[in-house]
Amino acid sequence: MDQPQDIAAALDRVRARIARACERAGRPRDSVQLVAVSKTHPAGSVAQALAAGQEAFGENRVQEAMAKFPPLRPAHPALRLHLIGALQTNKARDAVRIADVIESLDRPKLAAALAEAIAKEGRAPRLLVQVNTGEEPQKAGVPKAGAAAFLRACRDEYGLAIDGLMCIPPADEDPAPHFAWLAGLAAREGLRTLSMGMSGDFEAAIAQGATHVRVGSAIFGSRPYPA
Ligand SMILES: *Cc1c(COP(=O)(O)O)cnc(C)c1O
Repeated sequence: MDQPQDIAAALDRVRARIARACERAGRPRDSVQLVAVSKTHPAGSVAQALAAGQEAFGENRVQEAMAKFPPLRPAHPALRLHLIGALQTNKARDAVRIADVIESLDRPKLAAALAEAIAKEGRAPRLLVQVNTGEEPQKAGVPKAGAAAFLRACRDEYGLAIDGLMCIPPADEDPAPHFAWLAGLAAREGLRTLSMGMSGDFEAAIAQGATHVRVGSAIFGSRPYPA
């Protein structure tokens, strides 16, 4: 994809695919939200997506998100920023300041840092716990076996309201069992938000109950540099 991407047209295609996937799954169209993952793409690309009616965006670096999003907020009050990347505890305060949703809560130290930042800032982004469903050592996320205990600790020890779960299945596996496992945990825990599915697999995620799909390259084209 070397051509500059027509972002409005790409968004339309992704929206149509989401609508068809909802239909196949017997789910209402408004049960799935599209999060446009704009990491590495310039603020101008975000502006084009906003002009095409896109309101939710995903970024994986706090620094990059701080440069791109706060300046857009005044003109776009409906804009919602999701932080979807591994989060360092020393970035917790900035993350709480700028994010509407933080999708990558995955360890007690980060839970403590977020709880402290939320108290100091007087602002509470929605929080999702990321689960490393493929148990991949290089990937962020709480291990499957520890997920239920970690959810309890978030609520009981750190006083955090957890909204849902997020996962990124291994690139070389059928993602469906990973999505199904995450949906099962959400059901058992009474959590309503399930962030799962990317450009290559969001239809499969919708079939398994995703409420949020995080789609980057299918909207903005290939990334100019690795995220
Ligand atoms: C980059 C990224 C995405 C989007 O990936 P695409 O394959 O470009 O759609 C989704 N989720 C997370 C956590 C990411 O880091």
